[in-house]
Amino acid sequence: MTLKFARLGTTGNEQPAVIAQDADGVEKYFSLASLTKDIDGGFLASDGIARTREALKSSELPEISAEGVRVGSPVARPGSVVCIGLNYTAHAAESGATPPEVPVVFLKPSNTVSGPFDRAPIPPSSEKYDWEVELAIVIGREASYLSSVAEAEECIAGYAVANDLSEREYQIPGAAGQWTKGKSLPGSTPLGPWLVPASDIDAGNLRLTTTVNGEARQDSNTSDMIFDAPTIVHHLSQYMVLEPGDVIITGTPEGVALSGRFPFIHPGDVVELEIEGLGRQRQEYYRAQAGTPGSSSSSGSHTALAGTNA
Ligand code: ZN
Repeated sequence: MTLKFARLGTTGNEQPAVIAQDADGVEKYFSLASLTKDIDGGFLASDGIARTREALKSSELPEISAEGVRVGSPVARPGSVVCIGLNYTAHAAESGATPPEVPVVFLKPSNTVSGPFDRAPIPPSSEKYDWEVELAIVIGREASYLSSVAEAEECIAGYAVANDLSEREYQIPGAAGQWTKGKSLPGSTPLGPWLVPASDIDAGNLRLTTTVNGEARQDSNTSDMIFDAPTIVHHLSQYMVLEPGDVIITGTPEGVALSGRFPFIHPGDVVELEIEGLGRQRQEYYRAQAGTPGSSSSSGSHTALAGTNA
């Protein structure tokens, strides 16, 4: 059975839940509160996914209603958000770069993670805010100095949709040689709606798309990734310890505004990002005001049930 893990509730008060099909094939939400306080590294490292399957099998989990409830990111705040750059050949070309021979790695602060339907702030002075749909890996087992790609595969708990929002003026001309300023903005990593276990999905062959105000922007497939998910985890483990609950976003395909083919994000725009089997995000954008702290606390108008359509 394909499971979808979700965290439901207001920012900071999300409750762990799982979406599973009943005997008639109807998707239902079940509370995981009896198994864990949260969907986090501790839950994933202690075989939480397997324990959830057992609990569902023995009908131990109470059904809940998700109607009108905010959807949070599907994992609690990670220790690290590690990012891969230029991992699709056509995106490297539209960025004016040659495809890398080894993975390009950078980091985002973990406080950039927000819910998949939260209203999304454009920085006060930004004119080049850009979308990036990406396959996100969620780590389930510590990965350090792994000796093989097969071993790396065992460290992946599951997958989710991510948007790697990027401010191109801050990222490239304003960066003095590295990307951090354009990749650290408040609310710039919408994640979710679901965490789907690695065993339940073929992450190497998933269509991923972006639309802006309903118009197509990105449309590619994870099979076009230069470095696949296990290869990325194996590679990263040579340079850093990946901990359970950490998130790795694996690069974006072509079709971003940086290409010059599309306008950047404006206030009022609606950006929707979808990966086959992993669900759909939807963010409405607004202009953050100078002097107002950035935060990911604004909740989206879309509910948990809206997320199940994708
Ligand atoms: Zn990216």
